Amino acid sequence: MASSPLRALIVVDCQRDFCEGGSLPVTGGDAVASGVADFLAAHRTDYRLIIATRDWHIHPEHHFSTHPDFIDTWPKHCVAGTAGAEFSPNLDSHGPFVQCLDAIVSKGRESAAYSGFQGTTDDGRSLNRLLKDSDITSVDIVGLATDFCVKATALDAEKYGYATNVLLPLTAGVAPDTTAEAISAMEQAGVHVQAAI
Ligand SMILES: [Zn+2]
Repeated sequence: MASSPLRALIVVDCQRDFCEGGSLPVTGGDAVASGVADFLAAHRTDYRLIIATRDWHIHPEHHFSTHPDFIDTWPKHCVAGTAGAEFSPNLDSHGPFVQCLDAIVSKGRESAAYSGFQGTTDDGRSLNRLLKDSDITSVDIVGLATDFCVKATALDAEKYGYATNVLLPLTAGVAPDTTAEAISAMEQAGVHVQAAI
């Protein structure tokens, strides 16, 4: 049953502010969080590591704007320690999500950060360090949003040499055109974008 033990699942930014009702909602965010919970309930043992990333802003320079362009500037979101920065409660539908996790990687403390590889755990370990320390060779990526943080994390994972697979049904994008561009860019970089689970 179990596939490669050298595989990690990276759950990108499934936070309240990126789901319906949040300050920067991605349509389908709630459904992605529920889908990730279902997927984890069925596939936890397929992975050596489960890592969640989170947008975790303290002073993110010009990342926030009251007149956001939704490309480089955004409504205020995922401020560290606030309810909006918490993981979606939909992730807990089969039991506490955080109990499934081997690590939480926070990014964006002092500047915008789209890739999980720009973040660190509270004790200062990078995502790449966590993966290397567990001899991970391939990663599956799910979460929000397809066209920003999923894309950036997948491109970095590929760049760092991991066999990288994005489980598209467990992602949602900010906008259809940028999502299509993101899928194309990921595939051109060598990322496998898996259309069905
Ligand atoms: Zn952000």
